Amino acid sequence: MRERFGEALPLQVDANTAYTLADAEHLRRLDEFGLLLIEEPLEEDNLYAHARLQQRISTPVCLDESLHNARDTASAIAMDACRVVNVKPARVGGYLEARRVHDVAHAHGVPVWCGGMLETGIGRAPNLALAALPGFTLPGDTSASSRYFAEDITEPFVLEDGHLTVPPGPGIGIAPLPDALRRFTRERRDLFRR
Ligand SMILES: [Mg+2]
Repeated sequence: MRERFGEALPLQVDANTAYTLADAEHLRRLDEFGLLLIEEPLEEDNLYAHARLQQRISTPVCLDESLHNARDTASAIAMDACRVVNVKPARVGGYLEARRVHDVAHAHGVPVWCGGMLETGIGRAPNLALAALPGFTLPGDTSASSRYFAEDITEPFVLEDGHLTVPPGPGIGIAPLPDALRRFTRERRDLFRR
């Protein structure tokens, strides 16, 4: 990939916890490719091993699965277990904690990026608002609706020159399309009765 697309292309890899610290020398061979980051190279929740690995490789370690909240993030940064943070609101329990994770990382000069894949427009809209915060300096993987859905339950998000527009409306910034929502609804439960 590096040879084919040249030095200017930002490249990152995601190991999804596939390695152990015993693979450190193997992973160090990735340094020569000038990667933006290697995501979650080692087993989940092993901040100590990630810190040991980061000592031995120059590719920035990015944590995903290992970070469950802002406190984990602060610990990981303090022990140099990661130099990039992946923020997924669903992983950390919602947007308030996602914002705190961003704030902790940003205060320490650690870049963050917003992960996300299978959300409908209902999740995609607030992910975009989150990803517009100042610490999100690396490309996110919030994609166009059409990458996953032939039809969404909101107005579709469309990529323009690699960018998505943050919806300006109040709340999550977007509302479901009643007709589409009705057609895709498989079950309905009323949680509150008046
Ligand atoms: Mg990941």
